[in-house]
Amino acid sequence: MEKLYIVIPCYNEEEVLDKTKTELKKKMNTLIQNKKIDKQSKVIFVNDGSKDKTWDLIQQFYQVDKLFGGINLSRNRGHQNALLAGLLTVKDDADIVISMDADLQDDIDAIDLMIEKRKEGADVVYGVRNSRKKDSFFKRTTAQGFYRVMKMLGVDVIYNHADYRLTSRRVLDSLKDYREVNLFLRGIFPLIGFKSDIVYYERKERFAGKSKYPLKKMLNFAWDGITSFSVKPIRLVLNVGVVILFLSFLMILYSVIQKVLGNTVDGWTFIVCSLWLLGGIQMLSLGIIGEYIGKIYSETKARPRYLVTDYLVSKN
Ligand code: UDP
Ligand code: MG
Repeated sequence: MEKLYIVIPCYNEEEVLDKTKTELKKKMNTLIQNKKIDKQSKVIFVNDGSKDKTWDLIQQFYQVDKLFGGINLSRNRGHQNALLAGLLTVKDDADIVISMDADLQDDIDAIDLMIEKRKEGADVVYGVRNSRKKDSFFKRTTAQGFYRVMKMLGVDVIYNHADYRLTSRRVLDSLKDYREVNLFLRGIFPLIGFKSDIVYYERKERFAGKSKYPLKKMLNFAWDGITSFSVKPIRLVLNVGVVILFLSFLMILYSVIQKVLGNTVDGWTFIVCSLWLLGGIQMLSLGIIGEYIGKIYSETKARPRYLVTDYLVSKN
């Protein structure tokens, strides 16, 4: 039986924590009784610099019941960083870790299925919501647009998967080698690889408190996701440069013909030619410089170039 740790980032969640704690305790106890997980399994709340009583509550939970634990961050660092802090802090104590939100929007009954998939050999199990019926029209279309753009830019993300997932210890061991500061975890796990599986669930509405992802944060998050995983926008500049340079030759030809035909005022040909040629050359140069910056960008992230899953060798 494997030891399961559930990691939950919390930012100003005093309104929801009590119910979340109760529900998770029920779930964990059933899982332990049914011998699905080790009895040393835990639920760990990560306090992401909350301004309300969140941390006080977490401390209380810990004192009353040893099923619960807490991690306190020095200040608010955002959902992704809080999650990373939780995952990397518990990884050596747990065999498998499930990350989820504090508001129980992710159906906790999917945990059973995740553990089943884990037994079947998966190292990562992605929780995928089976519909977006409950979302507003705006959220639904923007989210779908986002996944489409990511796919177009060649980024491997799981459609409709947020941060509800099970990971094994060896996946988390690999995660620590991804040293980027602009964190977009749901892009990194597919990159890490290993055997993965999917579990579908119905995403509910937040039962109390407000969403900590207002539109501005959501857009920032999407932008981070795109720019941390793809240098294709830079290549776009390069391509535009090539096209403009090509057009400039046509324009030069055109303006020379106009001059020969006598359709121009003095100086027009010269100005039009320089404008197009210089514009094209500038765009192209920007693109070339961009290519190098893109390379520098991926080098500074220093991502591991490969991860070994198995190494079979007989020593004699
Ligand atoms: N969260 C966090 N730090 C932040 C913002 C959010 O730890 O700066 C946590 C929050 O407490 C919740 C999870 O991230 O457990 C997801 O946030 P929320 O439910 O507000 O997002 P939504 O479900 O609306 O996208
Ligand atoms: Mg939520």
